[in-house]
Amino acid sequence: MSNQLSRRKFLGNAGAVTAIPGWWSLLRGMAHNAVSLGGGAAASPGTADRIVDMHVHFDEKNRDFISDLLKLSERLNLTACLLTPFSDRKVVAEAAKQHPSQIVPFGSVDLDAPDVVKQVEELHGMGYRGLGELEFVKKPYNDPSYLPVYEVANRYGWIVLFHTGIVLRSKFDEPEDVASGRMRPIYLEEIARRFPKITVLGAHCGNPEYEWAAEIARWNPNVFFDLSGSTLTKMQGRLADFQKFFWWSGTEWHSPEWKVKTPDGDLSAFIKIVFGSDTDLREIESVVNQYRALFDACALPAHTRKMIMGGTLARLLGLPDGH
Ligand SMILES: [Zn+2]
Repeated sequence: MSNQLSRRKFLGNAGAVTAIPGWWSLLRGMAHNAVSLGGGAAASPGTADRIVDMHVHFDEKNRDFISDLLKLSERLNLTACLLTPFSDRKVVAEAAKQHPSQIVPFGSVDLDAPDVVKQVEELHGMGYRGLGELEFVKKPYNDPSYLPVYEVANRYGWIVLFHTGIVLRSKFDEPEDVASGRMRPIYLEEIARRFPKITVLGAHCGNPEYEWAAEIARWNPNVFFDLSGSTLTKMQGRLADFQKFFWWSGTEWHSPEWKVKTPDGDLSAFIKIVFGSDTDLREIESVVNQYRALFDACALPAHTRKMIMGGTLARLLGLPDGH
């Protein structure tokens, strides 16, 4: 959705959450994914604490959106993965070229568009770094008709952000062909296994199917979730419950093979979460605070917090992460 205010309003009421992060391209190396960051210009103070937000929707209705975003980026030391409708692809590609450390362009294509594969190839040619948010699909995410899109994303080793869980209703008085049952987190498992070079990122942690989301992330190194939407609001009085979904911290279930894919030996289950806000620019800071409340409630180690807030995405995208 491009209307940020209505999105926030809907999500705030209806709820949406995210839960699990994914896998590590460290072993295959980030060099082929890396972008030039334009010399030292990118290095603002506090690079070590840089936030990478996986879930910022480009708002075409705000004519000052890019400049507003850049100002916020400076203030919060934040890099935005900017989810961009195909029709807005040029303005965002241009902004990303000028501000590569602050804007990472992602294409919000319609999986049901007849020319979607062509659109995805065009986005790649323009410097886009992945797809998302994919949503409002006419069929479940694992429908065979969508596989050609995933094949292209797999070839480019892209991150693909999928909406998961409950979805807003934009029209109350007209028929609408939209259903959250087509966007359940369980579908991401098949995509992650069939297309192992895609980093599958589920938005909203499957709200309310957190348990499925977390378990799929646990067994698939290339699956992560963000916790944007209404989940952190809904659960603000019981944030420690997240430890029931992300339960395997410090346990011995990890195989040796899994451990080698875990960055810096961080075996916290919460390493499967990344930061995503999915809100109006003015409210991103409040989502940062909600994430921090979760970290405190679940007593997350400093390293895990840092990876969630930006370290994991910085590595996957080849951005400087302060290491
Ligand atoms: Zn969403």
